[in-house]
Amino acid sequence: MAKNSMRLTGVRKSYGGLEVIHGIDLDVQEGAFVVFVGPSGCGKSTLLRMIAGLEEVTDGEIAIKGRDVTDLDPSERGIAMVFQSYALYPHMSVRENLGFGLKMARTDATEIEARVKAASAILKIDHLLDRRPGQLSGGQRQRVAIGRAIVRKPDVFLFDEPLSNLDAELRVSMRIEIARLHRELGNTMIYVTHDQTEAMTLADKIVVLRDGKIEQVGSPREVYEDPANIFVAGFIGSPR
Ligand code: ADP
Ligand code: MG
Repeated sequence: MAKNSMRLTGVRKSYGGLEVIHGIDLDVQEGAFVVFVGPSGCGKSTLLRMIAGLEEVTDGEIAIKGRDVTDLDPSERGIAMVFQSYALYPHMSVRENLGFGLKMARTDATEIEARVKAASAILKIDHLLDRRPGQLSGGQRQRVAIGRAIVRKPDVFLFDEPLSNLDAELRVSMRIEIARLHRELGNTMIYVTHDQTEAMTLADKIVVLRDGKIEQVGSPREVYEDPANIFVAGFIGSPR
């Protein structure tokens, strides 16, 4: 049986007494590509940020590789997150941007260099290492942002709408890149998007969210061919 990579149990979130995530239970198998999809405001980012440890959970438990991480700092969870805005340091070179997190974690210089080299080869950005973010295209910046996650060798990658700032053409090519990355690295990936096409093409498993609740969990095919309700059918665009 496939090993469990992440488990959410009864996860809830309230802001100022108003609950926005209403008790999420979810099991993720090791190496899965799981996509959280749903309309704007349904709680995708909040859920991902709780997994990352950037938001506290109001109730419930988050376990990664069998370890309860609910109260751990982001750096202790074995996760790395790629954001929608690239959040690169403008005054640092690509090389420095890639190595910065490792440097903060006191990884030794030789190891940092090796990991930066490996990640930039995977992402085909080796030739950009001495540039600054301002000298890169949108797609190149997004690669650097993904590279910063790769160098940390996380158990789980978290992506929050990483392609939504890119133009349509670039979005398609980066989507293919991310799928390739998943095949090559084999890590568990949790990917948030409001884009049905991205969800359908990237996911092993789609989690359809609405108003802070799970409407359906299934393979792209299951969700498309056998939607749990009219909301899922309408959102995914299935013929029903
Ligand atoms: P999505 O990423 O799916 O668009 P979010 O997770 O950003 O949705 O938001 C889910 C809900 O939580 C929304 O109703 C939003 O207004 C609310 N929300 C998110 N962050 C905060 C916050 N820091 N304070 C108060 N409400 C918030
Ligand atoms: Mg969001």
